[in-house]
Amino acid sequence: MPDAPDLDLAASRSAPAGRTDPSVHTGPTHSPDRADGAAPGGRAGTTRPPKQEQLPAERETVELAPGILRIQLPIAMPGLGHVNAYVLTGGTGPVVVDAGLPGPATMTALTDGLGQAGIALRDIQAVVVTHSHPDHFGAAGELADAAGAPVVVHGAFRSWWAPEHHLPVEEIPDVDPADLDTENPMLLPTPWGGESLAAGWARSNEDRWTAGWTPPVPGVRLRDGERIRLGAREWVALHTPGHTIDHLCLFEPETGVLLSGDHVLPTITPHVPGVGGGRDALGAYEASLSRVAALPGVQLVAPAHGLPFSDLAGRVAAIRAHHEARLAEIVGLVAEAEPVGVAELSQRLFRRERWGPMAESETYAHLEHLRRTGRVRLVDGRDGPRYVVSGAAA
Ligand SMILES: [Zn+2]
Ligand SMILES: [Zn+2]
Repeated sequence: MPDAPDLDLAASRSAPAGRTDPSVHTGPTHSPDRADGAAPGGRAGTTRPPKQEQLPAERETVELAPGILRIQLPIAMPGLGHVNAYVLTGGTGPVVVDAGLPGPATMTALTDGLGQAGIALRDIQAVVVTHSHPDHFGAAGELADAAGAPVVVHGAFRSWWAPEHHLPVEEIPDVDPADLDTENPMLLPTPWGGESLAAGWARSNEDRWTAGWTPPVPGVRLRDGERIRLGAREWVALHTPGHTIDHLCLFEPETGVLLSGDHVLPTITPHVPGVGGGRDALGAYEASLSRVAALPGVQLVAPAHGLPFSDLAGRVAAIRAHHEARLAEIVGLVAEAEPVGVAELSQRLFRRERWGPMAESETYAHLEHLRRTGRVRLVDGRDGPRYVVSGAAA
């Protein structure tokens, strides 16, 4: 990993951002993909104990390792009960990594959690956002404003609710411009011929957050491999696209700590999007998984949801195996039903209560990965594209 000078956080402390009120719905950000342990296509009505990512936020600030505190913030999102905000202390002064959904519940929990460690909001020196999902960036703007601190992101970070802060496409590091959308893909008809994802979410009325939102204005945009001192430690920025195209993990090689964001979660399989994630989000995700699995000396993985763990290679292997099984299952289902469209196939893959835009988007991501690797191909259907197994007649 290339060496880069320490970034001067003080120099990039940003002016307060303007407020805006995006009357837009965010999408769910985690996989419907048997996230609750359900088998595909059935067994509705069975109840299972909640997964650790689904448990409500604990109120106690916990020190995971010297200089690394965890505050759990409450969120109400499908399949998730909290988001972990990590606080890196010492050195540069406290830095918050991920700030939860916008709104008073987050700010109250953050203020209380920081207070338990003797930290005031104004003490915060930087707010890191691991990726462009609202449970991670939602309150980052408000927190950064309150502290007068910069927002730190990967250079590909873009929030379509504040496109005025996007970098020009040609200046975005680490990403092929062909993988970048030029307008908000959530508002466009889906590539598989359905209504926009935003329309689907609006109807489901999930994840509404519209009141008085302060968008995060990136003050430090990291590149892959760049080093940055946050708190008492020097971290390496790892661009880990897949779950989102702008996903950032932070690795601290001295003691082997990985802040994994949503890239690797302890028991839930992170959602891989068919829309907004580039041309082959699943391929990118698999490459990013391989990359973190090869990191030397990982001792502690601190995920954005759920509990810390240490067996990163084992968890990555399990996630990879899940997707391999899913891909094989999809090839089988395509062979049975060909030519088959995305919506129909997603309904064969997912339980009824999971049907909808997110399941379709994830199905599309898998199909496009199969198409790009030559295992299925596209044919024209009357109402949108259809897939057949490669070699099959249309
Ligand atoms: Zn996410
Ligand atoms: Zn998340």
